[in-house]
Amino acid sequence: MVAKIIDGKKIAADLRHNIASEVARLGREHGVQPGLAVVLVGEDAASQVYVRNKGVATKEAGMVSFEYRLPETVTEAELLAQVTQLNEDPAVHGILVQFPVPGHISQQRVIEHIHPDKDVDGLHPINAGRLASGIPGLVPCTPMGSVILAKQSLGKLEGLHAVIIGRSNLVGKPVAQLLLNENATVTLAHSRTRNLPELCKTADIIIAAVGIPEMVKGDWVKQGAAVIDVGINRVDVPETGKTRLVGDVAFDDAKENAGYITPVPGGVGPMTIACLLRNTVFAACRQAGLPDPIL
Ligand code: NDP
Repeated sequence: MVAKIIDGKKIAADLRHNIASEVARLGREHGVQPGLAVVLVGEDAASQVYVRNKGVATKEAGMVSFEYRLPETVTEAELLAQVTQLNEDPAVHGILVQFPVPGHISQQRVIEHIHPDKDVDGLHPINAGRLASGIPGLVPCTPMGSVILAKQSLGKLEGLHAVIIGRSNLVGKPVAQLLLNENATVTLAHSRTRNLPELCKTADIIIAAVGIPEMVKGDWVKQGAAVIDVGINRVDVPETGKTRLVGDVAFDDAKENAGYITPVPGGVGPMTIACLLRNTVFAACRQAGLPDPIL
């Protein structure tokens, strides 16, 4: 069997199109224009690209984009004061502080300072708790995008066995909660898990969120399984002297066994920004006392 490639770019573009329609409707019918504020601290090159892309995507969806660039030397108190101001600003429905922040600032304190209803990254403990309790909140973007891709490929996930590799608060744990909410049977694997290849071979869905290039080998994948590769790793290509992006899955081998597989790039990556915009629309609706949109 050769896998069907899951086109994350296309699925993300469709989602963004639906979001733009919903934003237009909110403006037309309720006079609400969702606003997303992104705060960038320092000059990290990759973070600057992410922030620029988020700003462009926000405006393309018809929302308002607010950008705040603070110097590397900003104190934690100054950053938290900026967040307080955004918490109180009614034009801002979603707040995202681009991570990593410089070492003298506590990432956790920043996460906990964002108002949970504006926490479009879904990392505040209140939103993590809501997700764990199966009640509406704001869900981390990459996990949400990964599960949307799995559902688009397999349809209902009920009763399927999902093996998630990685248990970070950012990816693995929220993916596990989302899949449980879909009635999948979930195994959450990590660096101390024994017999990982055998475990993966029992999976109907593998979600790899490890950060080790091409760790998941082709023969770990059961015939017909769906493989969602969250990993983004930059590796050297000695022949060309350049670098390229690879996932946590050995794509060329895994696609021989899988039923569905995401490429890297072009799989989960594009879903992350689309889900950020989705969260911002949800946040804006809730803050305006409107029902959740169907997105
Ligand atoms: P973390 O480093 O926070 O977590 C990695 C997890 O992998 C840990 O739970 C760790 O286990 C586990 N792990 C490490 N080594 C092994 C091993 N040998 N066998 C099994 N499990 C192992 O990473 P993140 O969750 O933040 O990110 C994971 C990947 O996803 C990265 O490649 C990152 O770049 C990518 N990513 C992609 C995004 C996107 O938009 N597509 C967004 C966010 C992340 P333990 O807990 O025991 O240490």
